[in-house]
Amino acid sequence: MRPRLTGVYIHLPYCDVKCAYCDFFSIARRHVDEDFWLRYRDRLLEDLREQFALLEADTPKPVLASVFFGGGTPSRAPAFVIEAVLSAIKRSFGSQTNAVEVSAEANPESLNDELSQAWLAAGVNRLSIGMQSRDAAVLKYLGRLYNEKAYATVLRRVRNLGFANINVDFITGVPGQSVRSTLQDLEFAVENDVTHISLYQLTIEPATLLKQRIESGMLQPPSDIRQVRQMDAAIQFLAQQGFARYEISNFARPGKTCRHNRLYWTGRPYLGLGVAAHMFTGKRRFFHERSLENYLRGQAPRHDSGAALRDDLINALRLKQRLPLTRILGCFAPALHARVLGEIQSAGEKGWLQKNKLWIALTDKGLKHTDSLLASLWQIAPD
Ligand code: SF4
Repeated sequence: MRPRLTGVYIHLPYCDVKCAYCDFFSIARRHVDEDFWLRYRDRLLEDLREQFALLEADTPKPVLASVFFGGGTPSRAPAFVIEAVLSAIKRSFGSQTNAVEVSAEANPESLNDELSQAWLAAGVNRLSIGMQSRDAAVLKYLGRLYNEKAYATVLRRVRNLGFANINVDFITGVPGQSVRSTLQDLEFAVENDVTHISLYQLTIEPATLLKQRIESGMLQPPSDIRQVRQMDAAIQFLAQQGFARYEISNFARPGKTCRHNRLYWTGRPYLGLGVAAHMFTGKRRFFHERSLENYLRGQAPRHDSGAALRDDLINALRLKQRLPLTRILGCFAPALHARVLGEIQSAGEKGWLQKNKLWIALTDKGLKHTDSLLASLWQIAPD
């Protein structure tokens, strides 16, 4: 059997405040004591041992390709958590760990020089900085903290300390945000030599403070037309600056695509350590509940039998690259293949896909319509 590239995601759950639009599992608390982090670190190490055994049962010879510390806000956690977990992961996978991409998410306010240096020494080689915008009005709408000095200096500081591979997350389509404001954010990132930009359109998730505020009339909802205008301007600007759009929301300099996310989108196995994290063994999917108490008590991840089709379809239809038709058809029972091919034919006629008998590939137009394409395929085989 050929070795299989595998990723490891680690969820670190605390944030300074809960942003109004956020539906990730995160707990807002300004002070978290060291005892908590020691317990959480030990639980992550135990989780790693258990998940690695599940992985090896379904995927012999896994090869570590990427590690991703997400959250929550990993830059709120003490460095010893990342140091201990990263070295245990490398030990579990054995010696083939030379070219591993190791990313950590950070917010500008909490990523100081001391922590950056500790992360570099531990082996973190890619930063993902959540800015969302440098426009104070946009951040106010989103309910995010804003420290002007930290936002202005963080990219230059981490680059000077030695990080060469840096992503910045931005949001478009926020009411009150203009095309000019979006472009100013992108210009700032390009001037500071980032290698990767994630540009997400604001979506209103259920059970968020933002949804409540919109429903009560306190805030305006986003406008589709403005979102499309901002996204189109951003795509054009980033192309001119040499960033390739390789996924719906992701743009990279040559050779700097995010290896960890590509593992998800191409159906590779991954471990998911920490509260609320998900794992895929290559055959089976598991998830931890969204309960920190149960996680710390040692609750094992639960088998998620219904997630396979949904996740495969969503992941398969994100990347702007050729996708074997067999991968799409493999998500459906053989009796449904004719209907699936009919939907693919219809998407091709609308200009959303290029295709032949062996593969399909989303076009630029198709990247704007992935939700509609997924919905039409979904109707064929809801879970
Ligand atoms: S910092 Fe990130 S994870 Fe934390 S609440 Fe805000 S958006 Fe959610």
